[in-house]
Amino acid sequence: AKEAGKNRYAFYAARMDAQAQRRLALQAALRRAVDRRELTLAYQPKIALADGRVTGVEALARWVHPEWGAISPGEFIPLAEDVGLIAELGRWVLSQALADAAAWHQRGLGPLRVAVNLSVSQFADGELLANVRRALHDSGAPPSLLELELTESMVMRDPEEAARLLQALRALGVQVSIDDFGTGHSSLAYLKRLPLDAVKLDRSFVQDLPDAPKDAAIATGVIALAQQLRLEVVAEGVETQAQRDFLRQAGCDQAQGYFFSRPLPAAALVEWLQAYRR
Ligand code: C2E
Ligand code: CA
Ligand code: CA
Ligand code: CA
Repeated sequence: AKEAGKNRYAFYAARMDAQAQRRLALQAALRRAVDRRELTLAYQPKIALADGRVTGVEALARWVHPEWGAISPGEFIPLAEDVGLIAELGRWVLSQALADAAAWHQRGLGPLRVAVNLSVSQFADGELLANVRRALHDSGAPPSLLELELTESMVMRDPEEAARLLQALRALGVQVSIDDFGTGHSSLAYLKRLPLDAVKLDRSFVQDLPDAPKDAAIATGVIALAQQLRLEVVAEGVETQAQRDFLRQAGCDQAQGYFFSRPLPAAALVEWLQAYRR
């Protein structure tokens, strides 16, 4: 038994080592990726359920390493936070997304609002308002074309400071939504206090619709709550027509997911928009 324990330890140690090594290699590669612009953005359409109109797109960061292939943002965004690259990456995402939004606007493909995901430190570092102002100015895009997605945990750290920041962003004309709604450890009180435009119903509540009674109850409840609070509700991760129909029936305003489109590179998005018939 002792031997087995020892072997198991050696196995864990080897695996930890492999993980630590991957992390180190990824860190170095991410530094280069930011410098060399290996990062790109993919855009996923958001659809108004009442009439099928495209209301906007969510910008999602993509990293394709020349040798290792695609690395998911679920892996490299937290890594970028840890190694101090997130501020630079965040500024790049904001300016690239707004440059694309301004170009679509000029081509008459709109109005198409672009939603940018914020990271924890980007929300807390005191530079966000200035960065947003500068990125809007540099792109020439009207502020109404920008939406920022933040999570419950970001606003719960310091709700009063968050409220001030959100108020200032909205005063610029930028929209603000709460991402992954319902998954954070938070209270509903902030919905009352924070100036928000939308909540995004997390995919975990959408994926088993329409048949799972608890998910149906949660989805219906969140939609009703949001309506009462005059917030838009956007359902994430809609993959089937049955999910779309359930959500529309429940009064959900907008949805995004593979049922409508996967996230697409900017050029492919333009083609998708031109071919899209609601
Ligand atoms: P998120 O903001 O909740 O983004 C939604 C995720 O769900 C995306 O994963 C998207 O590709 C995926 N998705 C969309 N529709 C469907 C669907 O119908 N089914 C399924 N199974 N998945 C769907 P992705 O692109 O891998 O991004 C993961 C997370 O990484 C994002 O979650 C967001 O938290 C973060 N992220 C992505 N881009 C950025 C960025 O530019 N900045 C920051 N700070 N975070 C980002
Ligand atoms: Ca998001
Ligand atoms: Ca989300
Ligand atoms: Ca989610």
